[in-house]
Amino acid sequence: MDPTGIARRIVTFAGVASLLLAGAASAAPASTDEPALARLVRDALAGAAPGTVTVDEVFRRIRLALRDRSVLTRLPPNEQAVAVDTRGHIAAATEGTRTTVNVDLAAGRDSVVLIHNHPGGRGLSPADIAQLTDPSVLGVIAVGHDRSVYAASLGRGFEGVSYPTFMRFVSAAGADTRRRISGELSLAGEVYESHLEHMVSSALGQAGMIRYQSVLGDLRRKSFDLFGNVFDRIIEDVAREMKADLKRARARH
Ligand SMILES: [Zn+2]
Repeated sequence: MDPTGIARRIVTFAGVASLLLAGAASAAPASTDEPALARLVRDALAGAAPGTVTVDEVFRRIRLALRDRSVLTRLPPNEQAVAVDTRGHIAAATEGTRTTVNVDLAAGRDSVVLIHNHPGGRGLSPADIAQLTDPSVLGVIAVGHDRSVYAASLGRGFEGVSYPTFMRFVSAAGADTRRRISGELSLAGEVYESHLEHMVSSALGQAGMIRYQSVLGDLRRKSFDLFGNVFDRIIEDVAREMKADLKRARARH
């Protein structure tokens, strides 16, 4: 039983729960022990008019903030997560490990945009995308330490689809992408492995399941472009297959 009487739930970005610090809703000025990502987000959102803090706006402002390369040195070695409400207030800020982080959100609070960092710079994981099935989550953004930024929210194609079905599509898209890549390219796994999440999100975006925006860091973009034609075609094929499956899933209802 929560002594505060507020029902709390843990949003898990990946794997094991490792909540070290849960911030309270606050518009208070930054304290010196504020997690680095929270500070970065707070700075990026400075001057945003209340009510305008949407997924698009946070994505745009973080992209702008990352133009200053010194910002990268401020990113923490481990994952951290920040929840921002539409007024731009930091609703929660937490510390995780190198590969996982959780946000502790009080149930029934305002809608939030979830932002976390990816030290490896890879795209949104299935666990990240799963956060979109929480009605209070407006969108999920990952900030790569290679200056990649990825943002997803639910898309129009999601309408009429249950959350479990949505997650089935997400995992099927991952398997399909992997299968098509290994069928097309006789590459060592690591060459495409680091692009997998971005490709899956792109396919989900093309199929309308999510709204997906991304900008790849310079090196990641170069690496992607080496096989860009093949990757783009695979993304289109996965998206087309997903749309057809979606049609069939809807026809069954
Ligand atoms: Zn993540």
